[in-house]
Amino acid sequence: MREISWVLLVDRGARENPTFRWDGIQAGLDYLAEYWALRFTRTSNPRARVKFIASRTQGGPNWAAWANRSNFEIRISPTFNFGSNLLTSATAVVHEFMHLAGGSHHSSVQKDIMSPALEPGEQITQRDAQYMAAYAWKGARRPWNEPTYFRDKFTLTHRLLWVQPPKLYFPDACDQPRRWREWLDSFGSSVKGPE
Ligand SMILES: [Zn+2]
Repeated sequence: MREISWVLLVDRGARENPTFRWDGIQAGLDYLAEYWALRFTRTSNPRARVKFIASRTQGGPNWAAWANRSNFEIRISPTFNFGSNLLTSATAVVHEFMHLAGGSHHSSVQKDIMSPALEPGEQITQRDAQYMAAYAWKGARRPWNEPTYFRDKFTLTHRLLWVQPPKLYFPDACDQPRRWREWLDSFGSSVKGPE
């Protein structure tokens, strides 16, 4: 099982956004691990592969979070109002991680996780997966686009797509991950916020 370490860092002088559910980071990553054969492990090592940062500055007007693929940083806005909502917070995490996995595109369908609206539906959609496809390829056994950049970086194998025949589309036709809200409802976290 591939393991990816992540760390939570705080910019010097940053206001740690009190409306963000910091346990949503592990919740979102664990949800992604339902799709990919990997495990996300929190570490205190600042050189962890994926860095979540309580940002001191804004990324853009009313941005909740933003990602930098070159250094695998995901920044959380100091002021965006997440409403202390686990779904909203974890959705932002998944959304940004999928930017790391693939590209900067957004879905115009509001219920997609790759919509910039942070109003997710029940699961990662077919469209969402396509938005990870900036570096993608397709093959006879993999009708789906895969995030090859991320795959190559982390020797990623896809838990669900690997043996699916053509025309069966992720994630409906295979071992479907739990639905997003159910996942979060069942999530019991002891992960603490920025320290
Ligand atoms: Zn985005």
